[in-house]
Amino acid sequence: MLSYLHAFHAGNFADVQKHGALALVQTMMRAKASGIACFDTHAGSAIYDLRSERARKTREADHGVQRLWGARDRLLSGDWKPFLDVLKGFNAGGGELSVYPGSPAWFQHFLRDGDALTLFELHPSEGEQLAEWASEAPIRVLRQDGLAGLLRQLPPRQPRLLTLIDPSYEVKTDYIEVAQTLGKAWHKCRHGIFLVWYPILTSGLQEQLKDAVRGTDARKILCSEVHLNNPPERGMVGSGMLVVNPPWGFDSRFAAMMSDVAGSDVLNLSHDIGWLVPE
Ligand code: SAM
Repeated sequence: MLSYLHAFHAGNFADVQKHGALALVQTMMRAKASGIACFDTHAGSAIYDLRSERARKTREADHGVQRLWGARDRLLSGDWKPFLDVLKGFNAGGGELSVYPGSPAWFQHFLRDGDALTLFELHPSEGEQLAEWASEAPIRVLRQDGLAGLLRQLPPRQPRLLTLIDPSYEVKTDYIEVAQTLGKAWHKCRHGIFLVWYPILTSGLQEQLKDAVRGTDARKILCSEVHLNNPPERGMVGSGMLVVNPPWGFDSRFAAMMSDVAGSDVLNLSHDIGWLVPE
């Protein structure tokens, strides 16, 4: 039974970290002409209305992307530019953002002829909205389990691979299954870039994921973690991203991006980046 709906969380601090990393990786990958196979194993519904009842109920975007948008003229890293350009494309005018793109829309923005995008989504209504959004574009939507589905699609036809693995972790076994899938996917495509998002919880469950990833054969895995300076007493207190085979220089460029938004006037968090598994 799937109950998670990303509309309640779209544009929160974790999305800023996740989509910031995704936009930077895609920008860096476009420096080479060869085609990229992109996979989004847990796609969601692609476009989120920040004025919807769901978004207004949690107001998570107010403490996330709206803060970043308000600070856009003060961001020092030029690597925020492609990210801000995507937001501008969805939001006319300079006031508050009303639309937030989900990962499929971030992927689509950077697609070129010769690249391919495959989206997996299992939730019935999310899958329906996603398929409708993608119907005009050369994008494949597969309404099936994203982890098993990814393994069936690898290795891809294109010479390069970019995969986002971003489950809702509604089921506790997701932590281990994500690590096992990553290990198997790495064997099918050792040069592929894999981004894995996970929540940092007071329960510490994310350590199961990190330990299990360390136990796979995959190498060269960067780990970016943000921790809220004013965390809730229980639940999600931060968010993490693993980046397998990051483009050269990604770590320092992404650290500069996150340092731009760490201050109390923007996202009010701390950021660490380092190797979970070295080369
Ligand atoms: N990646 C999206 C983004 O960044 O905009 C957010 C995805 S949300 C965190 C997780 C999504 O995974 C939900 O839409 C949920 O319905 C979907 N989902 C849950 N289990 C799944 C599975 N086994 N296979 C594919 N999708 C699944």
